[in-house]
Amino acid sequence: MRCDKCRRGAIIFQRYSGLHLCEDHFIADFEAKAKRAIRTHHWMKSGDHIAVALSGGKDSSSLLYFLKVLTAQRRDITLSAITVDEGIKGYRDPSRAVRIATMLGADCLTATFRDEYGVTVDEIVAKKGDTCSCSYCGVLRRSLINRIAREHGVTKIALGFNLDDEAQSVLMNMLRGDADRLLRPQREVAGMVPRIRPFMYIPEREVALYAHLHVEGYEQGRCPYAHNALRADVRGMLNDYALRHPSTKYSLVNGGERLAEAGRGVREEIRTCEHCGEPCGATCRSCQILGEVLGNVS
Ligand code: SF4
Repeated sequence: MRCDKCRRGAIIFQRYSGLHLCEDHFIADFEAKAKRAIRTHHWMKSGDHIAVALSGGKDSSSLLYFLKVLTAQRRDITLSAITVDEGIKGYRDPSRAVRIATMLGADCLTATFRDEYGVTVDEIVAKKGDTCSCSYCGVLRRSLINRIAREHGVTKIALGFNLDDEAQSVLMNMLRGDADRLLRPQREVAGMVPRIRPFMYIPEREVALYAHLHVEGYEQGRCPYAHNALRADVRGMLNDYALRHPSTKYSLVNGGERLAEAGRGVREEIRTCEHCGEPCGATCRSCQILGEVLGNVS
């Protein structure tokens, strides 16, 4: 197949656009989409310290590479990475993420669930079963990354979420009937470092290709608990549907953004957790989880 823009050999076919693209035009298209997301959402400004939440997988590693290239000439922007070891045996060797950050010339802050919470995800699963592994792991990781970022003067946390992740989240919230989340816009909350998602309009397979072209040694394994998450079911269902309707994931993400926009006027009380001092909507979910697992919160 030939590239539809220059007639050189194509490396990818985008079903949603109908275009075959060569390596150069694929990279140009990819980076234009990520830059547009940053521009549209006003996600970067002079003086920012952006930290990529770096797992060492394809999404976050590509994001660190992309932001490194994007900010190479910007002395007014600091770029670093934050890596958290959740304690999942045989998965996410934290030294891999540190190696990638070093290769890309970014400082990498590291933390572990063991040191911060006194418990690992493997131990939580051993105690509570694996059906809720992702909700426990996700809540604790988000909270820890936020705290590290805040303590180091980070102004934006960059997440490697891609179009597939975003579309799955919208659909999951619909399936759960979680109108609150669907109507929750991004807003500034004291103590919460704002999050940015430059790859939110880029399909997962394109992020994988971008990682393959630019990053050496990223993690390709799957978390042993991933199959238990509702997300795994939604992902299968959505991929299957999108085979017949290629623009579905974009439609879901656009719909999700419109709902969040419609929820701008809805006020949610933000309090501070009496145990850990972190900002929370109602009760601090991290402390609830640690209370359940360790019995150390009344
Ligand atoms: Fe944590 Fe679930 Fe991701 Fe595994 S798949 S790292 S348990 S959130």
